[in-house]
Amino acid sequence: MVVVMGAEATDEQVAAVVDLIEDAGGETFVSRGKHRTIVGLLGDTERFMALPLAGMSGVDQVVRIGKPYKLVAAESRPAASVVQVGNVAIGRDSFCVIAGPCAIETEEQAMSAARAAKAAGSHVLRGDAYKHRTSPYAFQGLAKRGLEILAQMRAETGLPVVTEVLHTSDVDLVASYADIIRIGARNMQNFQLLREVGRTRRPVMLKRGLSATIEEWLMAAEYIAQQGNEDIILCERGIRTYEPMTRNTLDLSAIPLVHRLSHLPVFVDPSHSSGKRELVAPLALAAVAVGADGVMIDIHPHPETALCDGPQALTTEELPPLVAEMGRVAEAVGKSLARQTPGLSAVGQ
Ligand code: PEP
Ligand code: MN
Repeated sequence: MVVVMGAEATDEQVAAVVDLIEDAGGETFVSRGKHRTIVGLLGDTERFMALPLAGMSGVDQVVRIGKPYKLVAAESRPAASVVQVGNVAIGRDSFCVIAGPCAIETEEQAMSAARAAKAAGSHVLRGDAYKHRTSPYAFQGLAKRGLEILAQMRAETGLPVVTEVLHTSDVDLVASYADIIRIGARNMQNFQLLREVGRTRRPVMLKRGLSATIEEWLMAAEYIAQQGNEDIILCERGIRTYEPMTRNTLDLSAIPLVHRLSHLPVFVDPSHSSGKRELVAPLALAAVAVGADGVMIDIHPHPETALCDGPQALTTEELPPLVAEMGRVAEAVGKSLARQTPGLSAVGQ
C-alpha cells in the first residue's frame, strides 16, 4: 500500500500520516520527490487499509499495490510519467533519439559524432567516460578528461547528454556533467549505486541487466525511486540467450509489457543488444513499432578504428536516413519524433 501525497505536502502532514500508520504497528518508508511524496507501507498491509488515511490533509490517494515494486508500478500514478531533460519531454507522447559514441576516445572523434548526431535530428547525445569492459585489457575510458569532452559536446550542440557512472564514489562528479546519469546492464543490481543516483535529482537511465527478468528490472528501478528520484528511463538492451549470432537477444516484448506494468518511459538500445551494425536499423524500427519511447544508438566517425564496440556503431552518414525512417514508423503507430529543441538542464548548479 502506498499513500500518495503532493510534492508540496508539509513535513507535519507527512509526519501525521507516518504516525498514524506506525501507531497502528505498521512500518513505513517516505520518498520525497520532485513530483510527489509517497509514504509506503512495508510488509502485510491488509490490516492498515481500514485506517482513515484517505481523508488526511495532504493525501491525494491511497493505493493498494501488491507487488514487490510500488512507486514505479503503473497503479501508483494516474498517467504515464514524463521525464523532462532540458527541453525534451521523454514519455509516451513522442519518440526520442539518443545518439553518440559508445566511448569518448578523443576530442576530435567525440565532437565529430556529436555534430553528426545533432545534424541528424537527435535529441540527446551519448558518450561514456567510464567503460564497463568485460576484459580488463580493453579500453576503460578517459575518466575525468572524457567528462570534460562531454561538456564540450553539450556546450557546442546545446543538446543534453547521457553518460554512464560505474562507482558510487563517482556519482556526484558524473552528476555535475550529465543531464541523464546512466546505470549500465552490469550494474543493474548494484543496489548501493542505485540508491546513490536516486539521491541525486538527475534523471537516470536504467539499463536492463544481461540476465534480469522484467520484474527484477522494475525492482531495481524501485531502489532509485525510493530515494525520491522518479525521473527514471528504462532501457532494454538485450538479454543473454543461447543464440550466439547476436551479442544478446533484444527482448521486444519487454516494451509493451513494461508499458502495462509501469508508468516509466522505456527505451531500446539496438546497438548493444545486437552488437552488429547491420541489425541496428531494423531493430530500431521495430522498437518504434512496438511503442518504445526512444532509442539509444552508437555512432562513430570511423567505426573501423573505434576503441570500443566499433562493429555495432553506425557511421555518421548512416544515422540521418534512419532517424527519418523512425519518424515515419512513429507516425504510423500514432507517435511522432520529438522536436529537436536544444536547451540544457541546470547541470553543475
Ligand atoms: C553502453 O551503453 O555503453 C553499455 C555498456 O551498455 P550495457 O550496459 O547495456 O552493456
Ligand atoms: Mn558500448
